Amino acid sequence: MTIRTRFAPSPTGYLHIGGVRTALFSWAFARKHKGEFLLRIEDTDLERSTAESVNIILDGMRWVGLDYDNADNVIYQTRRFERYKEVLNELLQQGQAYHCYCSKEELEAMREQAEKNGTATYDRRWRPESGKTLPPIPADVEPVIRFKTPIEGTTTWYDLVKGEISIPNSALDDLIIARADGTPTYNFCVVVDDYDMGVTHVIRGDDHVNNTPKQINILKAMGTKLPEYAHLPMILNEQGKKISKRSGDTVAITDFGQMGILPHAMLNYLARLGWAHGDDEFFTMKQFIEWFDLKDVSPSPSRMDMKKLYWINGEHIKATPDNELAELIRPRLAVRGVEETEKPLLEDVLDLVKDRAQDLNTLADECIYFYQKGTPSEADMQKHWDEDTQARMLRFADKLEALSDWNPEAIHDLFKPFCEEEGIKMGKLGMPLRLAVCGTAKTPSIDAVLALIGKEEVLNRIRN
Ligand code: GLU
Repeated sequence: MTIRTRFAPSPTGYLHIGGVRTALFSWAFARKHKGEFLLRIEDTDLERSTAESVNIILDGMRWVGLDYDNADNVIYQTRRFERYKEVLNELLQQGQAYHCYCSKEELEAMREQAEKNGTATYDRRWRPESGKTLPPIPADVEPVIRFKTPIEGTTTWYDLVKGEISIPNSALDDLIIARADGTPTYNFCVVVDDYDMGVTHVIRGDDHVNNTPKQINILKAMGTKLPEYAHLPMILNEQGKKISKRSGDTVAITDFGQMGILPHAMLNYLARLGWAHGDDEFFTMKQFIEWFDLKDVSPSPSRMDMKKLYWINGEHIKATPDNELAELIRPRLAVRGVEETEKPLLEDVLDLVKDRAQDLNTLADECIYFYQKGTPSEADMQKHWDEDTQARMLRFADKLEALSDWNPEAIHDLFKPFCEEEGIKMGKLGMPLRLAVCGTAKTPSIDAVLALIGKEEVLNRIRN
């Protein structure tokens, strides 16, 4: 049997990080079992679905690098109405579904009654049963189609994350599977799609647990084998509440990109929300696929921890080859007004500074002074610069100028004798030198920085 999973987002806004985590687990499960991972766009809610959101989803999937199979044949529910109609007709013909002509008022009255009795809402008025006489068909009502949910027994499944879940069928309504205008409803479309796509494992958010018994009953009526289900618990925000834009949480996957998070760091972090492999925090997606198992997914919700996300991101930045990093930093430097990144070579700069940042924006900031001198802050000047400093820096510039070799070691070898000559401690040379050359006191080892910036530029900066 080929394992087949799917990610089925509704294109009604941005791509939520909870959605990406769901996609990630479905993807990893399929990849681990050499199966297929499919994408399905659930766009039947015509009022809320937009083409723009579809693009946001596709871009988001591309950005994180979750590749899906049959990429040129992504399933869109709106393109499948004919097929849904076909299955509706089959169910009607087999007596598994029926027309219901209830008016709004009748349904309202039933709802009130059901609330009082604590039963399922619909009183099965139009459900055909042997020996039962149905009401006369009203002339002016377009019927909906309802599914004939079993009345007796329970619907039970062994959820691969939550364990056994059992719902008495008496608690389930004869749900509407097609509206009066003929359009199929959500749960019905999902069932037909999962069936047609040959989905073997439905991995999705646990907000769908209530839909599962309805879907299982329809699948049974269609006479098909049931998929396995795995419902993933929610990701909560740092305060333990539902993640929402309104509470100021970052929710859209693209926003994390703008914050300078690397896509594979994002996935590494999301993988750890609700899943663990011992104490491993930092890993590659190859390792994740190898290690992933649904039985290790926790049934309780997990919490966002931005500090940890940044830490993991920093680790991935360090592990990223300099040439790849340069591709990501170059556009960020351009935004910061630095277009030229050849002298010094950005890759060499990154090699020196990449362990100093936990996001790509901060990392880009760390690169600027290699290309342009910044202006020291008032506070730094007060701390590190006094009336002797300027003349001393000029004297040091002369020493630098006299060097025949320009490399960190040669520059470093100047420090000790110069400090002795001047009768100062190293801090009185290093800090003002940083301010004079870089405009900031926070740099890596200053000999390495000077070596990279280049002799001519260093002398110019000090002397100016
Ligand atoms: N479209 C649903 C959602 O975005 C997913 C449905 C499913 O996975 O079965 O929550």
